[in-house]
Amino acid sequence: MKKDFQNAVVLLLLVMLLIGCRGLDQDLPTQTSVPTETSTSTAAPVPTDTPSPTPTSTPLPLNGQQTQYDIELNINYYNRFITARSRSLYTNKTQFPINEMIYIIYPTIFQSAIYVKSIELGNGTPVSNFRWDGHRMVIPLNTPLMPGEQIEFVHDFELYMPNRGGTFGQTDHQLNLSYWFPMIPPRTEEGWDYYEISLVNSQFIGENFFFENADFNVRLAFTDRAETMKVAAGVLPREEDDMLLYEMKLARTFTLSISDVYVIAERDVLGTKILSYTFPEEASAGEAAADLAVDTLKLFTEFYGPVMRDLVTIVEADFEHNMEFDGLIFISRGIFMFYNGTPETNLTIITPHEVSHQWFYSLVGNNQAVEPWLDESIATYSEALFYEHYYPELVSWWWANRVDGHQPSGYVDNTIYLEAGYEAYRNSVYLNGAHFMQDLRDTIGDEAYFNFIKAYALENRYQIASSEDFFSTLSRHTSEDLTILFEEYFANPPNSPET
Ligand SMILES: [Zn+2]
Repeated sequence: MKKDFQNAVVLLLLVMLLIGCRGLDQDLPTQTSVPTETSTSTAAPVPTDTPSPTPTSTPLPLNGQQTQYDIELNINYYNRFITARSRSLYTNKTQFPINEMIYIIYPTIFQSAIYVKSIELGNGTPVSNFRWDGHRMVIPLNTPLMPGEQIEFVHDFELYMPNRGGTFGQTDHQLNLSYWFPMIPPRTEEGWDYYEISLVNSQFIGENFFFENADFNVRLAFTDRAETMKVAAGVLPREEDDMLLYEMKLARTFTLSISDVYVIAERDVLGTKILSYTFPEEASAGEAAADLAVDTLKLFTEFYGPVMRDLVTIVEADFEHNMEFDGLIFISRGIFMFYNGTPETNLTIITPHEVSHQWFYSLVGNNQAVEPWLDESIATYSEALFYEHYYPELVSWWWANRVDGHQPSGYVDNTIYLEAGYEAYRNSVYLNGAHFMQDLRDTIGDEAYFNFIKAYALENRYQIASSEDFFSTLSRHTSEDLTILFEEYFANPPNSPET
């Protein structure tokens, strides 16, 4: 009996390690457009003899044309029922007319989880000529939306929260709302940029969604026992008339996690607040996670620049994977439960990983379906950097346990549609990806590597970066011939920078 139990624990630990940051470890980031105190407080006083600054040469992110989401929601926690009204004001940021709008309505993938009551134009005109394309709502426009023009739609809907652990769902412990409202996908000159979910052998692989930065105004009220609710979000709310008002600028998503039992650990670092929400049983691991996040922000701010967030929230997830959103990360309950108070533990591995997604996913976006390595390779290698700085004696342990014990192999630039399935995806994109980053650093040297990666992070803020952007920035930071390295790791290697 006892042996069985031990075996089960060992197996569970193994599963935890294997799961790590798994398929659904999405990297949807949040960033406020408001510089964090990090940048504002360190700004030197402007010398008075400086000529008056020329009108800012740095354009606003997205030229100030990001989508404006204005959402009201009323939550009945114990009945698992939500009513919501989402208004989205969209600007055509391309050079071409748009003939139909698309909304991704993720809750439609769960049976009976959403009922869309009505759709209106911003002026109140009812819209009925929409059609469904999988989990997307397609709305033909009577008049094409010309470049620079705006259009507004209002969706009224109800959510019946599915009884499931996951980033969208509700368990006895928590209600998680991710991708819960109609979301507009990125638009390129070629059209709407969306991808199907990857399901291989009944397992979701990676993240098919990615979004442009947008502004969110969210008003949240509870229709039952508001006083007992603890709400985790990627930004701090104001309270007004029994409502929580959230204003989040330049985020890709707006995610909430709510529970009537959360305990909260709080820290402040470099002008950013850390809030760690756990269940009472894991309160001490929640404190440890908050400390790890502090260390992570200190270190990665050096490597990647300011995080551009006022808040980073950690949530203990009542499910078995880890996931990043803007200003909010989920870390699996098992990782908290098995925290052993030492750095040789998954909490110390995964916290820096998920927090690094605040840079690579939230601040610097990427096409997570086709180029998931752009955030996951960097996030996984960021774990190594964390150990190198804080626990240098454990770097080889990290490589052995996290990477080399799991057959790192396969092309780093695999997509989430890899037919070989989740493990092959993880082994290539995450694990071999970490080896690529280390080999790249070894080849071009520390100075070039860290200058390069910081430049890449800064140059692509508020964008959806591509492999091309990655290699183009790299080529400006090294003259090494990287042909062999690229051919080893990439199915589609870039041309090596030669000069
Ligand atoms: Zn990740």
